Amino acid sequence: MSTGEPAHKLNYDTRWEYSPAPESADHARIDEQYGLFIGGKFVAPKSGEYFNTINPATEKVLSRVAAANADDVNNAVKVARGAYENVWSKMRPAERGKYIFRIARIIQERSREFAIIESLDGGKPIREARDIDVPLAAAHFFYHAGWADKLDYAFPCRSPSPVGVVGQIIPWNFPLLMAAWKIAPALACGNTVVLKPAETTSLTALKLAEVIRDADLPKGVVNIVTGDGSTGSALVQHNDINKIAFTGSTDVGRLIQHSLAGTGKKYTLELGGKAANIIFADAPIDQAVEGIINAIFFNQGHVCCAGSRLLVQESVADQVVTKLKERMQTLIIGDPLDKNTDIGAINSAAQLERINSYLELGQNEGAEMFQCTTKTPDFGFWCPPTLFTQVAQSHSIVREEVFGPVLAIQTFRTVDEAISKANNTQYGLSGGVWTDKGSKIFNVGKNIRAGVIWANTFNKFDPTSPFGGYKESGVGREGGLHGLSAYLNLD
Ligand code: NAP
Ligand code: MG
Repeated sequence: MSTGEPAHKLNYDTRWEYSPAPESADHARIDEQYGLFIGGKFVAPKSGEYFNTINPATEKVLSRVAAANADDVNNAVKVARGAYENVWSKMRPAERGKYIFRIARIIQERSREFAIIESLDGGKPIREARDIDVPLAAAHFFYHAGWADKLDYAFPCRSPSPVGVVGQIIPWNFPLLMAAWKIAPALACGNTVVLKPAETTSLTALKLAEVIRDADLPKGVVNIVTGDGSTGSALVQHNDINKIAFTGSTDVGRLIQHSLAGTGKKYTLELGGKAANIIFADAPIDQAVEGIINAIFFNQGHVCCAGSRLLVQESVADQVVTKLKERMQTLIIGDPLDKNTDIGAINSAAQLERINSYLELGQNEGAEMFQCTTKTPDFGFWCPPTLFTQVAQSHSIVREEVFGPVLAIQTFRTVDEAISKANNTQYGLSGGVWTDKGSKIFNVGKNIRAGVIWANTFNKFDPTSPFGGYKESGVGREGGLHGLSAYLNLD
């Protein structure tokens, strides 16, 4: 396959100059230091240790966050057990629902502050935090609040009961949203929670702790312990936890699964992905190009279900690649707080290093790299949107999760070839198909082994819809009735 026009011959005249439109951060209150949220209040860690959380777009320190050790985790689990036995599991379900509705409403009221802090702490564009992360987080609380007193109807002829104290561990790519995905169903089902956010993005979980306190949720029902992998590990190892809900990498998921084997603890694991986004020749090409941009460059590619493999039908491959490169050159990279920004900062120096190592590996393995030439800021962690052509199935950039704005492009000729290439991966979280033909959508959707398949769109989420993976993308589902059932014993 030819790779389209070289960069210097492409038509970039369509690029518009936008005046800066930065969102003011004055509205957002970030404390200099945060303790652990245990028993309804912020407490100093027994460890006595704190770590810095920085803004990855400027490398400036935003706050200091407590590092919980095994004693702190033990304290949080004890408090959660007490709240479960004495209050939450005994409360009338309709009353539980009222608290969850209240949390949802307060998130909506403080949505601007949440969006700003999410953008500052994680590097994502304010537009995404404002339009996707925060409204979806509120929607998860609203949706699950509604189920709290209807569990008998959700699972007729069963006797749903809570599982008990739940340990929850989340990653840095959608910090508030992942906390909502975990906490909302757990509470609706009558469980109490100890949640560990990711080390680089603890702030919105701590702001959520403030919301939970302001909603008057009974003390100890939700506890938030910040820290690194060792804090997560202490939570997994704790013998008074009834269930672990983990979202993160397949490597850590595998470790957790090993250490839980034989303990009788329930678990759900939402892990990595390497989704194929399939473009057929009969697709509306301009919309598909926009869809590809959304599938892989949205949130700097820090998305487990990102369309990181593009499979494009050979007859339109040159056209699609040329249009894609043109569109990539118009993307606005820079200040995440600017409302025009399309591509924000990479979440951490470590993640940028990992992405850069894949860019080098891709080229060393013989693929051809195209990177958009927009200048990136001098400080902070940045990776311009990148695509690779001339890739083979054996290349690392096709097989492994890069978790950055990096697209590997392959071609196909027939529907069967597209399906077989899409399934040629250890992962199975998501996929996309772009075509004019409904029958092709059903055929491809049925035959791709992945938890979610989007048709003529990508990266759409809804709390009513179960989300989760096949193969090494995980075990269990979150969202919808399937997600609820993971927080219940169903006799
Ligand atoms: P990660 O390194 O696996 O970390 C995830 C969480 O686990 C973090 O809070 C981390 O703490 C903690 N952790 C690290 N080592 C641990 C251990 N030994 N025991 C218990 N907890 C431990 O993943 P990440 O780099 O943050 O996130 C990216 C990954 O998440 C990608 O693979 C992505 O595909 C996946 N993801 C999946 C979904 C899904 O729904 N399937 C959604 C979002 C992300 P620290 O932050 O302190 O290291
Ligand atoms: Mg940070």
